Amino acid sequence: MKGFTSKIVHSDRQGNIEHGSMHKPVHSTVAYGYDDARDLAAVFQGTGPGFTYSRQVNPTVEALQAKVTTMERGVASLCFSTGMAAIGTMLFALLRKGDHFVSSSFLFGNTTSLLLTFANHGVDVTFVDATDAAAVAEAVQDNTRLVFVETIANPRTQVTALQEIGALCAARNLVYVVDNTMTSPYLFQPAAVGASLVVNSLTKYIGGHGNALGGAITEMGAYDWRGFDNIQAPCKVKDERLWALTQMKKKGLRDFGASLAPEAAHHIAVGAETLALRMERQCATTRSLAEYLNEHEKVRRVYYPGLPEHPEYERAQALFRHPGALFGFELDPGLDIWTFMNAFEVIVRSTNLGDNRTLAIPVAHTIYHEVGPEWRARMGIADSLIRISVGIEDCDDLLDDFRRGFSASQSQSSTG
Ligand SMILES: *Cc1c(COP(=O)(O)O)cnc(C)c1O
Repeated sequence: MKGFTSKIVHSDRQGNIEHGSMHKPVHSTVAYGYDDARDLAAVFQGTGPGFTYSRQVNPTVEALQAKVTTMERGVASLCFSTGMAAIGTMLFALLRKGDHFVSSSFLFGNTTSLLLTFANHGVDVTFVDATDAAAVAEAVQDNTRLVFVETIANPRTQVTALQEIGALCAARNLVYVVDNTMTSPYLFQPAAVGASLVVNSLTKYIGGHGNALGGAITEMGAYDWRGFDNIQAPCKVKDERLWALTQMKKKGLRDFGASLAPEAAHHIAVGAETLALRMERQCATTRSLAEYLNEHEKVRRVYYPGLPEHPEYERAQALFRHPGALFGFELDPGLDIWTFMNAFEVIVRSTNLGDNRTLAIPVAHTIYHEVGPEWRARMGIADSLIRISVGIEDCDDLLDDFRRGFSASQSQSSTG
């Protein structure tokens, strides 16, 4: 079995599945009992198979971890309660006081906020324009341990110099962390650019239905952890490719406890079966909508890496199967953004992305409200910027919504 979807759909049945079930059952249990106390001891000592306590892992969560590993062509994965928990736990487990890391400045907003918190705890971070690998190279110091980037940034859709930064990390022996949420493993596999660890918010495209939160870290087997001296002795298991993930499990899940619930893991696993189908449809519709808006006289700009005028158009063409299912656009400042958005009948006015439903958000007034006008100006977030996360609805229904928006806001601007 080689195909992306065949592998996900049949993933649970590759293992020993109860009663021949089609899905890994939801194991609603906290702990696991053993007839022979020596078997319990063996699990604790890592010499026998089994589970101890669901804060570290649960059979349903383990089945999802196997799916994520398959999708990313990795070595192993760990799941967490949210994408933020995955990122926070990974950095918490791997870095210590006095370490430095370099990050893209074009990040999911909460990730920026999280990285700044690490700075408060003595782990230093430098933010750079990661569309340019030279900016990353310039920021590397003697104590730099890691580089953190996203594939396509939200909401302005900058595309990271993924290949070049991968080469830099390999040359400088830096851990290369790629947050693949915006592309998902169907559009892009960071294995291709030498990522050490891959982050996915399972909440978004992988789960796809807007009904469960989750996150994952996948070990890609590309980094030699024997040279990374933050790994503690009990985490140095036989397979050295698993040292970092073991430390995340022990320090992050066991001690920190941001574990994924089995019910959420089940929702996400079912959602993941249709990732490729949904993405094909969502990406095709995204192109149609972005092209329609790009031609519209009442739209100032469209941010979508599938348009030839996008600064990283060529890079997106070279790296990704499709240039994503999210775009931003700036309305003509003469139009009222509220009237425009309130005319939508299908598109939901909501945060989140990667849902089957199309979602629209006025960026400056919501997710970029707290940071203030100077930060927004630096990040290129105009007051009229609307972010659209495209769902699986029929494209014509979405186009009709935009037409309704223009006609409502234009008649308003001509009367007022
Ligand atoms: C949403 C998102 C996250 C955080 O994921 P949650 O599951 O919402 O915690 C991290 N990175 C990116 C790129 C995201 O879009």
